[in-house]
Amino acid sequence: MLSYDIIARKRDGGQNTEEEIKSLVTGFTRGAVDERQMSAWLMAAFIRGLDEEETFIMTKAMLDTGSVVDLTKISGPIVDKHSTGGVGDKVTLVAGPLAAAAGVKIPKLSGKALGHTGGTLDKLSSITGFRTSLYQEELINQVQNVGLAIAAQTADIVPADKKIYALRDLTATVESLSFIVSSIISKKAAGGAKNIIIDVKVGTGAFMPTMARARDLAGALTRTGARLGLTVKCIFTDMNQPIGRAVGNSLEVAEAIETLAGDGPEDLREVALAVAAEMVLAALRASDISRARERVEEALVSGEGLGVFKRMVEAQGGDVRLVDDPSRLPRAANSRALKAERAGFLAVKDCRKIGLAAATLIGHRGGSIAADIGAGLVLQAKHGDEVREGDDLVEIYFGAEDRRIEAEALLRQAIEIGPERPQLFPLVY
Ligand code: URA
Repeated sequence: MLSYDIIARKRDGGQNTEEEIKSLVTGFTRGAVDERQMSAWLMAAFIRGLDEEETFIMTKAMLDTGSVVDLTKISGPIVDKHSTGGVGDKVTLVAGPLAAAAGVKIPKLSGKALGHTGGTLDKLSSITGFRTSLYQEELINQVQNVGLAIAAQTADIVPADKKIYALRDLTATVESLSFIVSSIISKKAAGGAKNIIIDVKVGTGAFMPTMARARDLAGALTRTGARLGLTVKCIFTDMNQPIGRAVGNSLEVAEAIETLAGDGPEDLREVALAVAAEMVLAALRASDISRARERVEEALVSGEGLGVFKRMVEAQGGDVRLVDDPSRLPRAANSRALKAERAGFLAVKDCRKIGLAAATLIGHRGGSIAADIGAGLVLQAKHGDEVREGDDLVEIYFGAEDRRIEAEALLRQAIEIGPERPQLFPLVY
Protein backbone atom coordinates (compact mmCIF):
# COMPACT_ATOMS: atom_id res chain seq x y z
CA MET A 1 0.00 0.00 0.00
CA LEU A 2 1.43 3.34 -1.01
CA SER A 3 1.48 6.10 1.61
CA TYR A 4 0.97 8.47 -1.32
CA ASP A 5 -2.48 6.97 -2.05
CA ILE A 6 -3.49 7.03 1.62
CA ILE A 7 -2.61 10.72 1.84
CA ALA A 8 -4.40 11.50 -1.41
CA ARG A 9 -7.60 9.77 -0.24
CA LYS A 10 -7.68 11.87 2.92
CA ARG A 11 -6.73 15.02 1.03
CA ASP A 12 -9.75 14.47 -1.23
CA GLY A 13 -12.11 14.07 1.74
CA GLY A 14 -12.35 10.28 1.70
CA GLN A 15 -12.32 7.81 4.55
CA ASN A 16 -9.15 5.88 5.30
CA THR A 17 -9.50 2.18 5.99
CA GLU A 18 -8.18 0.33 9.03
CA GLU A 19 -5.40 -1.14 6.94
CA GLU A 20 -4.41 2.30 5.65
CA ILE A 21 -4.34 4.02 9.04
CA LYS A 22 -2.44 1.10 10.61
CA SER A 23 0.09 1.11 7.81
CA LEU A 24 0.80 4.82 8.32
CA VAL A 25 0.92 4.73 12.12
CA THR A 26 3.05 1.61 12.42
CA GLY A 27 5.18 2.50 9.42
CA PHE A 28 5.93 5.97 10.77
CA THR A 29 6.72 4.59 14.23
CA ARG A 30 9.17 2.06 12.77
CA GLY A 31 10.73 4.60 10.42
CA ALA A 32 9.31 3.04 7.26
CA VAL A 33 7.03 6.01 6.48
CA ASP A 34 8.97 9.19 6.27
CA GLU A 35 8.25 12.38 8.15
CA ARG A 36 7.25 14.31 5.01
CA GLN A 37 4.49 11.86 4.21
CA MET A 38 3.27 11.60 7.79
CA SER A 39 3.21 15.40 8.01
CA ALA A 40 1.15 15.60 4.83
CA TRP A 41 -1.35 13.02 6.12
CA LEU A 42 -1.60 14.78 9.49
CA MET A 43 -2.43 18.05 7.74
CA ALA A 44 -4.94 16.37 5.39
CA ALA A 45 -6.62 14.62 8.34
CA PHE A 46 -6.52 17.84 10.35
CA ILE A 47 -8.37 19.73 7.61
CA ARG A 48 -10.71 16.98 6.41
CA GLY A 49 -11.23 15.39 9.83
CA LEU A 50 -11.37 11.76 10.91
CA ASP A 51 -14.73 10.24 11.74
CA GLU A 52 -15.30 8.35 14.97
CA GLU A 53 -14.39 4.97 13.44
CA GLU A 54 -11.16 6.33 11.95
CA THR A 55 -10.36 7.97 15.30
CA PHE A 56 -10.83 4.64 17.09
CA ILE A 57 -8.68 2.85 14.49
CA MET A 58 -5.92 5.43 14.90
CA THR A 59 -6.09 5.12 18.71
CA LYS A 60 -5.90 1.32 18.58
CA ALA A 61 -3.12 1.38 15.98
CA MET A 62 -1.11 3.74 18.20
CA LEU A 63 -1.73 1.60 21.29
CA ASP A 64 -0.62 -1.52 19.41
CA THR A 65 2.79 -0.02 18.61
CA GLY A 66 3.82 -0.70 22.22
CA SER A 67 2.97 -2.65 25.32
CA VAL A 68 0.47 -2.17 28.13
CA VAL A 69 1.73 -1.68 31.68
CA ASP A 70 0.74 -4.59 33.89
CA LEU A 71 -0.58 -3.09 37.11
CA THR A 72 -1.81 -6.33 38.65
CA LYS A 73 0.89 -6.17 41.35
CA ILE A 74 -0.60 -2.96 42.72
CA SER A 75 -3.10 -3.50 45.48
CA GLY A 76 -5.66 -0.77 45.95
CA PRO A 77 -7.89 1.25 43.67
CA ILE A 78 -6.10 2.57 40.61
CA VAL A 79 -7.16 5.77 38.87
CA ASP A 80 -5.34 7.77 36.23
CA LYS A 81 -5.84 11.44 35.41
CA HIS A 82 -5.18 13.49 32.29
CA SER A 83 -5.72 17.02 31.11
CA THR A 84 -6.55 18.02 27.55
CA GLY A 85 -3.95 20.77 27.95
CA GLY A 86 -3.91 24.30 29.24
CA VAL A 87 -1.91 27.34 30.24
CA GLY A 88 -0.40 27.30 33.71
CA ASP A 89 -2.02 23.90 34.18
CA LYS A 90 -0.22 22.40 37.14
CA VAL A 91 -3.37 20.66 38.44
CA THR A 92 -1.79 17.18 38.27
CA LEU A 93 0.96 18.29 40.65
CA VAL A 94 -1.63 19.23 43.29
CA ALA A 95 -4.57 16.90 42.61
CA GLY A 96 -2.36 13.80 42.20
CA PRO A 97 -0.77 13.99 45.68
CA LEU A 98 -4.10 14.88 47.32
CA ALA A 99 -5.91 11.92 45.75
CA ALA A 100 -2.98 9.62 46.54
CA ALA A 101 -3.06 10.78 50.16
CA ALA A 102 -6.74 9.77 50.18
CA GLY A 103 -5.78 6.22 49.18
CA VAL A 104 -5.90 6.30 45.37
CA LYS A 105 -3.07 4.59 43.48
CA ILE A 106 -1.98 6.76 40.57
CA PRO A 107 0.40 5.63 37.83
CA LYS A 108 0.51 8.77 35.70
CA LEU A 109 2.17 8.90 32.32
CA SER A 110 2.61 12.51 31.30
CA GLY A 111 3.70 14.42 28.25
CA LYS A 112 5.91 17.31 27.28
CA ALA A 113 4.80 20.76 26.20
CA LEU A 114 2.51 20.80 23.16
CA GLY A 115 1.68 23.90 21.14
CA HIS A 116 0.97 26.81 23.48
CA THR A 117 0.38 24.50 26.46
CA GLY A 118 2.88 23.33 29.03
CA GLY A 119 3.83 19.72 29.82
CA THR A 120 3.96 18.12 33.25
CA LEU A 121 7.24 16.38 32.41
CA ASP A 122 8.97 19.68 31.58
CA LYS A 123 7.69 21.12 34.84
CA LEU A 124 8.99 18.23 36.93
CA SER A 125 12.35 18.25 35.21
CA SER A 126 12.97 21.67 36.80
CA ILE A 127 13.50 19.75 40.07
CA THR A 128 17.20 18.92 40.12
CA GLY A 129 17.80 15.19 39.67
CA PHE A 130 14.14 14.28 39.10
CA ARG A 131 13.94 11.27 36.78
CA THR A 132 10.92 11.16 34.51
CA SER A 133 12.06 7.92 32.82
CA LEU A 134 11.15 4.99 35.05
CA TYR A 135 11.35 1.28 34.35
CA GLN A 136 7.94 -0.36 34.59
CA GLU A 137 8.95 -2.19 37.75
CA GLU A 138 10.08 1.06 39.38
CA LEU A 139 6.83 2.73 38.41
CA ILE A 140 4.76 -0.08 39.91
CA ASN A 141 6.79 -0.24 43.15
CA GLN A 142 6.57 3.50 43.55
CA VAL A 143 2.79 3.58 43.02
CA GLN A 144 2.45 0.78 45.56
CA ASN A 145 4.66 2.50 48.16
CA VAL A 146 4.06 6.20 47.58
CA GLY A 147 0.66 6.15 45.88
CA LEU A 148 1.82 8.30 42.96
CA ALA A 149 4.39 8.19 40.18
CA ILE A 150 4.52 10.73 37.34
CA ALA A 151 6.67 9.52 34.49
CA ALA A 152 7.28 9.72 30.78
CA GLN A 153 6.07 7.10 28.38
CA THR A 154 8.84 4.52 28.25
CA ALA A 155 10.15 3.53 24.84
CA ASP A 156 7.75 0.61 24.73
CA ILE A 157 4.60 2.51 25.71
CA VAL A 158 2.81 4.04 22.72
CA PRO A 159 6.00 4.90 20.84
CA ALA A 160 3.69 6.11 18.08
CA ASP A 161 2.36 8.91 20.29
CA LYS A 162 5.84 10.12 21.17
CA LYS A 163 6.67 10.55 17.48
CA ILE A 164 3.28 11.81 16.28
CA TYR A 165 2.98 14.24 19.22
CA ALA A 166 6.33 15.79 18.34
CA LEU A 167 5.40 16.01 14.65
CA ARG A 168 2.01 17.62 15.40
CA ASP A 169 3.84 20.19 17.47
CA LEU A 170 6.04 21.04 14.47
CA THR A 171 3.35 21.02 11.81
CA ALA A 172 0.54 23.09 13.37
CA THR A 173 -1.72 20.04 13.62
CA VAL A 174 -2.20 19.94 17.37
CA GLU A 175 -5.80 21.18 17.71
CA SER A 176 -7.57 18.25 16.10
CA LEU A 177 -10.23 16.44 18.14
CA SER A 178 -9.25 13.08 16.66
CA PHE A 179 -5.53 13.53 17.27
CA ILE A 180 -6.16 14.65 20.86
CA VAL A 181 -8.42 11.64 21.47
CA SER A 182 -6.00 9.13 19.94
CA SER A 183 -3.05 10.64 21.80
CA ILE A 184 -4.74 10.69 25.20
CA ILE A 185 -6.68 7.43 25.02
CA SER A 186 -3.82 5.36 23.57
CA LYS A 187 -1.59 6.57 26.41
CA LYS A 188 -4.23 5.97 29.06
CA ALA A 189 -5.00 2.47 27.75
CA ALA A 190 -1.29 1.64 27.71
CA GLY A 191 -0.88 3.04 31.23
CA GLY A 192 -2.95 0.12 32.50
CA ALA A 193 -5.52 1.94 34.68
CA LYS A 194 -9.16 1.23 33.86
CA ASN A 195 -10.64 4.30 35.55
CA ILE A 196 -9.65 7.63 34.09
CA ILE A 197 -10.58 11.19 35.03
CA ILE A 198 -10.03 13.65 32.21
CA ASP A 199 -9.90 17.36 32.92
CA VAL A 200 -11.35 18.83 29.72
CA LYS A 201 -10.25 22.43 29.46
CA VAL A 202 -12.64 24.94 27.90
CA GLY A 203 -11.79 28.46 26.79
CA THR A 204 -9.40 30.58 24.78
CA GLY A 205 -6.36 28.86 26.29
CA ALA A 206 -7.67 25.34 25.58
CA PHE A 207 -7.50 23.32 22.38
CA MET A 208 -11.31 23.37 22.47
CA PRO A 209 -12.33 27.01 22.96
CA THR A 210 -16.10 26.54 23.23
CA MET A 211 -18.25 24.38 25.47
CA ALA A 212 -19.83 22.75 22.40
CA ARG A 213 -16.45 21.60 21.10
CA ALA A 214 -15.29 20.59 24.58
CA ARG A 215 -18.43 18.42 24.89
CA ASP A 216 -17.69 16.82 21.51
CA LEU A 217 -14.17 16.09 22.72
CA ALA A 218 -15.41 14.65 26.03
CA GLY A 219 -17.93 12.44 24.20
CA ALA A 220 -15.27 11.13 21.83
CA LEU A 221 -12.82 10.51 24.70
CA THR A 222 -15.46 8.61 26.67
CA ARG A 223 -16.71 6.48 23.74
CA THR A 224 -13.24 5.70 22.36
CA GLY A 225 -12.06 4.83 25.88
CA ALA A 226 -15.07 2.54 26.40
CA ARG A 227 -14.25 0.59 23.24
CA LEU A 228 -10.88 -0.16 24.81
CA GLY A 229 -12.38 -1.16 28.16
CA LEU A 230 -11.78 2.13 29.98
CA THR A 231 -14.24 4.02 32.15
CA VAL A 232 -13.58 7.65 31.31
CA LYS A 233 -15.19 10.47 33.24
CA CYS A 234 -14.70 14.06 32.14
CA ILE A 235 -14.77 17.21 34.24
CA PHE A 236 -14.97 20.55 32.40
CA THR A 237 -12.81 23.32 33.85
CA ASP A 238 -12.14 26.85 32.71
CA MET A 239 -9.18 27.81 30.57
CA ASN A 240 -10.07 31.39 29.64
CA GLN A 241 -7.17 32.49 31.81
CA PRO A 242 -4.19 30.61 33.26
CA ILE A 243 -4.83 28.51 36.35
CA GLY A 244 -3.12 30.19 39.27
CA ARG A 245 -0.61 32.90 38.51
CA ALA A 246 2.51 31.10 37.28
CA VAL A 247 3.09 29.97 33.70
CA GLY A 248 6.47 28.31 33.12
CA ASN A 249 8.12 25.18 34.40
CA SER A 250 9.94 25.88 37.66
CA LEU A 251 7.56 28.77 38.43
CA GLU A 252 4.61 26.38 38.23
CA VAL A 253 6.29 23.74 40.38
CA ALA A 254 6.88 26.41 43.05
CA GLU A 255 3.21 27.42 42.89
CA ALA A 256 2.03 23.81 43.12
CA ILE A 257 4.21 23.25 46.21
CA GLU A 258 2.88 26.45 47.82
CA THR A 259 -0.67 25.24 47.16
CA LEU A 260 0.02 21.84 48.69
CA ALA A 261 1.53 23.65 51.67
CA GLY A 262 -1.81 25.43 52.21
CA ASP A 263 -1.09 28.73 50.46
CA GLY A 264 -1.17 29.26 46.72
CA PRO A 265 -3.87 30.75 44.53
CA GLU A 266 -7.52 30.09 45.25
CA ASP A 267 -8.45 29.01 41.69
CA LEU A 268 -5.68 26.41 41.52
CA ARG A 269 -6.69 25.02 44.91
CA GLU A 270 -10.35 24.84 43.85
CA VAL A 271 -9.75 23.09 40.50
CA ALA A 272 -7.25 20.67 42.06
CA LEU A 273 -9.68 19.77 44.85
CA ALA A 274 -12.49 19.24 42.32
CA VAL A 275 -10.33 16.95 40.15
CA ALA A 276 -8.89 15.09 43.16
CA ALA A 277 -12.39 14.52 44.56
CA GLU A 278 -13.48 12.95 41.24
CA MET A 279 -10.43 10.66 41.40
CA VAL A 280 -11.31 9.59 44.93
CA LEU A 281 -14.91 8.94 43.90
CA ALA A 282 -13.83 6.95 40.83
CA ALA A 283 -11.62 4.87 43.14
CA LEU A 284 -14.63 4.23 45.36
CA ARG A 285 -12.75 5.66 48.32
CA ALA A 286 -15.84 7.72 49.21
CA SER A 287 -19.56 7.08 48.91
CA ASP A 288 -20.38 10.35 47.18
CA ILE A 289 -18.71 13.44 45.77
CA SER A 290 -19.12 15.55 48.92
CA ARG A 291 -17.41 12.91 51.06
CA ALA A 292 -14.68 12.59 48.45
CA ARG A 293 -14.24 16.35 48.58
CA GLU A 294 -13.98 16.27 52.39
CA ARG A 295 -11.31 13.59 52.15
CA VAL A 296 -9.11 15.59 49.77
CA GLU A 297 -9.62 18.78 51.76
CA GLU A 298 -8.36 16.90 54.82
CA ALA A 299 -5.32 15.76 52.82
CA LEU A 300 -4.61 19.39 51.97
CA VAL A 301 -5.10 20.83 55.46
CA SER A 302 -3.14 18.04 57.18
CA GLY A 303 -0.20 18.34 54.79
CA GLU A 304 -0.56 14.67 53.75
CA GLY A 305 -0.73 15.74 50.10
CA LEU A 306 2.53 17.66 50.39
CA GLY A 307 4.03 14.59 52.08
CA VAL A 308 3.10 12.43 49.06
CA PHE A 309 4.61 15.00 46.67
CA LYS A 310 7.83 14.97 48.66
CA ARG A 311 8.02 11.19 48.74
CA MET A 312 7.41 11.09 44.99
CA VAL A 313 10.24 13.57 44.37
CA GLU A 314 12.55 11.56 46.60
CA ALA A 315 11.61 8.24 44.98
CA GLN A 316 12.30 9.68 41.52
CA GLY A 317 15.72 10.98 42.54
CA GLY A 318 14.81 14.67 42.86
CA ASP A 319 16.31 17.09 45.35
CA VAL A 320 13.72 17.31 48.16
CA ARG A 321 15.36 20.44 49.54
CA LEU A 322 13.68 22.23 46.64
CA VAL A 323 10.31 21.10 47.97
CA ASP A 324 11.12 22.46 51.45
CA ASP A 325 12.34 25.69 49.92
CA PRO A 326 10.89 26.32 46.43
CA SER A 327 12.91 29.55 46.12
CA ARG A 328 15.85 27.22 45.34
CA LEU A 329 14.19 26.06 42.11
CA PRO A 330 15.88 27.35 38.94
CA ARG A 331 14.94 30.90 37.92
CA ALA A 332 15.72 32.73 34.68
CA ALA A 333 18.54 35.24 34.89
CA ASN A 334 16.37 38.34 34.59
CA SER A 335 12.92 39.56 35.49
CA ARG A 336 10.94 42.62 34.58
CA ALA A 337 7.36 43.73 35.14
CA LEU A 338 4.86 44.52 32.41
CA LYS A 339 3.04 47.61 33.68
CA ALA A 340 -0.54 48.82 33.26
CA GLU A 341 -0.69 51.66 30.73
CA ARG A 342 -3.94 52.94 32.19
CA ALA A 343 -6.28 52.38 35.12
CA GLY A 344 -9.30 50.08 34.81
CA PHE A 345 -10.30 46.43 34.92
CA LEU A 346 -8.09 43.74 33.51
CA ALA A 347 -9.64 41.33 31.01
CA VAL A 348 -7.90 38.31 29.51
CA LYS A 349 -9.04 38.29 25.89
CA ASP A 350 -6.88 35.49 24.54
CA CYS A 351 -5.35 33.08 27.02
CA ARG A 352 -3.62 31.17 24.20
CA LYS A 353 -1.36 34.18 23.65
CA ILE A 354 -0.33 34.06 27.31
CA GLY A 355 0.67 30.45 26.69
CA LEU A 356 2.58 31.49 23.58
CA ALA A 357 4.31 34.26 25.54
CA ALA A 358 5.48 31.73 28.12
CA ALA A 359 6.53 29.29 25.37
CA THR A 360 8.55 32.11 23.78
CA LEU A 361 10.31 32.90 27.04
CA ILE A 362 11.05 29.22 27.65
CA GLY A 363 12.18 28.68 24.05
CA HIS A 364 9.51 26.13 23.20
CA ARG A 365 8.01 27.33 19.95
CA GLY A 366 7.74 25.70 16.56
CA GLY A 367 9.50 22.60 17.80
CA SER A 368 12.48 24.36 19.37
CA ILE A 369 13.85 22.28 22.23
CA ALA A 370 16.25 24.82 23.72
CA ALA A 371 14.23 25.21 26.89
CA ASP A 372 14.98 27.72 29.64
CA ILE A 373 13.43 25.80 32.51
CA GLY A 374 13.38 28.84 34.84
CA ALA A 375 11.71 31.22 32.38
CA GLY A 376 8.05 32.15 32.22
CA LEU A 377 5.71 34.64 33.78
CA VAL A 378 3.71 35.29 36.91
CA LEU A 379 0.43 37.18 36.66
CA GLN A 380 0.23 39.95 39.26
CA ALA A 381 -3.35 40.75 38.25
CA LYS A 382 -6.00 38.33 37.07
CA HIS A 383 -9.09 38.62 34.90
CA GLY A 384 -11.55 41.04 36.53
CA ASP A 385 -9.03 42.69 38.88
CA GLU A 386 -9.00 46.48 39.12
CA VAL A 387 -5.59 48.02 38.41
CA ARG A 388 -4.10 51.51 38.55
CA GLU A 389 -1.90 53.05 35.89
CA GLY A 390 1.67 51.83 36.41
CA ASP A 391 0.69 48.75 38.44
CA ASP A 392 2.60 45.55 37.70
CA LEU A 393 0.44 43.28 35.56
CA VAL A 394 2.83 40.45 34.79
CA GLU A 395 6.31 39.65 36.11
CA ILE A 396 8.31 38.29 33.18
CA TYR A 397 11.22 35.90 33.84
CA PHE A 398 13.56 35.72 30.87
CA GLY A 399 17.04 34.86 29.66
CA ALA A 400 17.37 36.77 26.40
CA GLU A 401 16.05 40.28 25.76
CA ASP A 402 14.62 39.45 22.31
CA ARG A 403 12.43 36.76 23.86
CA ARG A 404 11.17 39.22 26.46
CA ILE A 405 10.25 41.74 23.76
CA GLU A 406 8.34 39.12 21.76
CA ALA A 407 6.60 37.79 24.87
CA GLU A 408 5.63 41.29 25.95
CA ALA A 409 4.02 41.97 22.57
CA LEU A 410 2.00 38.75 22.88
CA LEU A 411 0.93 39.64 26.41
CA ARG A 412 -0.25 43.08 25.30
CA GLN A 413 -2.43 41.36 22.67
CA ALA A 414 -3.70 38.83 25.22
CA ILE A 415 -4.94 41.27 27.83
CA GLU A 416 -6.90 44.49 27.84
CA ILE A 417 -7.70 47.13 30.43
CA GLY A 418 -11.22 48.57 30.16
CA PRO A 419 -13.54 50.82 32.13
CA GLU A 420 -15.88 48.03 33.20
CA ARG A 421 -15.33 44.82 35.08
CA PRO A 422 -15.50 41.96 32.53
CA GLN A 423 -17.73 38.96 33.00
CA LEU A 424 -16.04 36.40 35.24
CA PHE A 425 -15.78 32.73 34.30
CA PRO A 426 -16.75 29.81 36.53
CA LEU A 427 -13.81 27.60 37.48
CA VAL A 428 -15.59 24.29 37.07
CA TYR A 429 -18.47 24.00 34.58
N1 URA B 1 -2.69 15.80 25.85
C1 URA B 1 -2.17 14.75 25.17
O1 URA B 1 -1.61 13.83 25.76
N2 URA B 1 -2.26 14.74 23.85
C2 URA B 1 -2.86 15.71 23.15
O2 URA B 1 -2.92 15.63 21.96
C3 URA B 1 -3.40 16.82 23.85
C4 URA B 1 -3.31 16.84 25.21
